[in-house]
Amino acid sequence: TVVRTTSQTKTRVNPTSVAATTKTSAISTNPTITKPAPQSLDEVTQTKEQLEDELIESLPGVDKTAAKQIFSEIVVHGDEVYWDDIAGLETAKNSLKEAVVYPFLRPDLFRGLREPVRGMLLFGPPGTGKTMLARAVATESKSTFFSISASSLTSKYLGESEKLVRALFAVAKKLSPSIIFVDEIDSIMGSRNNESENESSRRIKNEFLVQWSSLSSAAAGKDSKDTDDRVLVLAATNLPWSIDEAARRRFVRRQYIPLPEATTRKVQLKRLLLNQRHTLTDEEFEELVLLTDGYSGSDITSLAKDAAMGPLRELGDELLFTETDSIRSVNLEDFRNSLKYIKPSVSKDGLNRYEEWAASFGSSG
Ligand code: ADP
Repeated sequence: TVVRTTSQTKTRVNPTSVAATTKTSAISTNPTITKPAPQSLDEVTQTKEQLEDELIESLPGVDKTAAKQIFSEIVVHGDEVYWDDIAGLETAKNSLKEAVVYPFLRPDLFRGLREPVRGMLLFGPPGTGKTMLARAVATESKSTFFSISASSLTSKYLGESEKLVRALFAVAKKLSPSIIFVDEIDSIMGSRNNESENESSRRIKNEFLVQWSSLSSAAAGKDSKDTDDRVLVLAATNLPWSIDEAARRRFVRRQYIPLPEATTRKVQLKRLLLNQRHTLTDEEFEELVLLTDGYSGSDITSLAKDAAMGPLRELGDELLFTETDSIRSVNLEDFRNSLKYIKPSVSKDGLNRYEEWAASFGSSG
């Protein structure tokens, strides 16, 4: 989920469009570093980098290289996801609105007893839309979105990880409102390997917990300006049972993201075929919905992509000489064929384990 900045995107930035990139818009949301709009593209790139540099300079005690890395690899921009892009999951959407989106947009209403949570866990089978939800939360709450896979902290950034975690929280506070999305949180908050847990993973985990706690103490502090720090840790896992108890308790809200129900599968299938010529009738969609019981959102996407290849596959090399309009529409038979190869990625047993964990530790609603 980590999105990298390329030099290409730098030159494409349009300073007058707030939504040009999260990076630009994130920076311009901070009133202390807003600058007049520059004129030329060169100036844009330069200004953007200058803004980053100024921002990094204003963070005492934060490793400069790590902070730069946060900007280039962890801040996500472009390709925004909105609630409507996500099929179904109404319970999860409502829960995220109440816990994050409304408090971020109307902090004045969410004080005292209504103080927003600082951490929320999304758990469930793989490919059910957890990452999409996190991205939608960031878009809908107009927040800067930081996305990091926890397993990359222990592999890719090993050695630099603690500095990176410190810089991550410092930049997130500076650019608040911010969502820190940590995918595969189980890989740093796991309990399974406690004995064999190596020294560096333990340090990363501790640093993360310390930084995370600093958010809540800032909110509880007397300085009223600090209470405006709107930074939330949103984590996702396919292995909720591997998270140790202490870490689990810190996620006050634990939201189950289940496999899509029939109505959701229908919505998703219809949406996937929206811009594709097809012959599927409503009854055939219903049949397809029954055939995809147990499929996750990403299984359904893979299925539809594979089925859409059906008309091309039967042409073989001929496809190179066939007019676009002469290619036949996708039909139910294409889906039937693809169903033979694209199977659900979660087994019934696997699913039971999620349901049990949700019943024991999930937040209701
Ligand atoms: P997770 O983070 O739960 O593993 P993702 O959010 O990364 O899953 O979803 C993977 C892909 O599956 C998405 O890019 C999208 O194509 C599809 N998908 C999953 N759930 C949904 C959904 N509810 N609505 C629409 N597409 C979905």
